[in-house]
Amino acid sequence: MNLEPTKIQNEIRDLVRKIAEDKLRPLVRRFDIEAEYPLEFMKLLGTLNFLGVYIPEEFGGLNEGTVAMVLIMEEIAKVCPGTATSFGANALGTYPILFSGTDEQKKKYLPKVASGEFLAAFGLTEPGSGSDAMAMTTRAVLDGNEYILNGQKQFITSAGRADFYSIFARTKAREAEGGLSRGISCFIVEKNTPGLSFGKKEEKMGLHCSETRAIFFDNCRVPKENLIGGKEGRGVGTLLNTLHHSRIVISGQGLGLAQGARTIAFDYAKKREQFGRPISENQAISHKLANMEVQIEAARCLIYRAAWYADNKYPKDQISKFGAMAKLFSSEMAFDVANKALQVCGGIGYMRDFMMEKYVRDARVMTLYEGTSEMMLEEIFHILLKESNRGK
Ligand SMILES: Cc1cc2nc3c(=O)[nH]c(=O)nc-3n(C[C@H](O)[C@H](O)[C@H](O)COP(=O)(O)OP(=O)(O)OC[C@H]3O[C@@H](n4cnc5c(N)ncnc54)[C@H](O)[C@@H]3O)c2cc1C
Repeated sequence: MNLEPTKIQNEIRDLVRKIAEDKLRPLVRRFDIEAEYPLEFMKLLGTLNFLGVYIPEEFGGLNEGTVAMVLIMEEIAKVCPGTATSFGANALGTYPILFSGTDEQKKKYLPKVASGEFLAAFGLTEPGSGSDAMAMTTRAVLDGNEYILNGQKQFITSAGRADFYSIFARTKAREAEGGLSRGISCFIVEKNTPGLSFGKKEEKMGLHCSETRAIFFDNCRVPKENLIGGKEGRGVGTLLNTLHHSRIVISGQGLGLAQGARTIAFDYAKKREQFGRPISENQAISHKLANMEVQIEAARCLIYRAAWYADNKYPKDQISKFGAMAKLFSSEMAFDVANKALQVCGGIGYMRDFMMEKYVRDARVMTLYEGTSEMMLEEIFHILLKESNRGK
């Protein structure tokens, strides 16, 4: 196994690092204060084809896989974790088509995602179903050549902004599916479809420049050909495949965020003098900084390994287990490192102008979205149990 990115992946990372520093960093404070979506930066990523870095070349992408997605997330999140969320959510909304779509669906949507013409979003969570996604109640009923959707999704990243939505809905009532989870299907819903509407922009603790809204379906008619994969009841497979990949990608956000906070703390600790010497000369500070580095590099190993497994078509259970471990470790690590970094900076770390407290606020959500830490532990344990029962 080689966890070193390829030459092309390194070139992509270097370019994203440069544009994040040049084009994004000067705007981060404004985006945070004004909760402004990073539209120009997303467009720039589209122009460079980076919104399609994981999409096969035949559909207009660069075909550089999950590893490249992680590297891009990492570089963006070092500078602006909220922009990284917008970037990651675009892939999250596209993965259902990539993994389960028909050829026609792939031809229609993937090239537009790759070029940045279309932004995507992913609608799973509902007011009554978060971790227990199978409890969803949004219904899709076939009527002639259309499905009629009724229900609600909540906390959807890029809702109202995206051009299309991968929406999970019940095509069979839960009682009728016989416990086989074949009652869920996934649909592509385009933005201007009648019956589709959006809630207010949520005011969040962090990630201010990433937009989050509810989605409402009121007799929303979706063409039959927008059923992903063309067959009902395949939603759970689509969902699992999507999350197993997207969780690896979102782990890259934690990795980048932690490095962003660490760098500010490190530079500050070398310069800030108290008691006649730099604070970094106190072991309480230097060991904190050293420990942060260990945490970051440990996360990197897990995340790159999970990404490498995904790109090299390892068995699904391995991708899922390593993805869950990467997500769990990276998200917990990101908050811990950001919090320690703020402590190193003392009072100035708490001031908004210093741009440290934002990392702490932005990090907090990572143990919640795309599966909470508790659910990651559940998933890891269940795979361990399966392996042990197989005598592995
Ligand atoms: C900023 C933001 C953006 C988001 N973007 C999207 C998006 O784009 N698309 C989308 O579909 N969703 C999105 N979400 C929703 C997110 O994925 C859910 O919030 C998350 O899955 C948790 O669901 P919940 O909030 O309903 O919490 P709940 O499921 O109600 O959980 C509450 C607590 O109980 C714990 N818990 C629940 N069940 C168990 C159990 N069996 N064992 C142990 N502990 C348990 C959880 O771990 C958690 O600590 C977003 C959320 C946020 C905050």
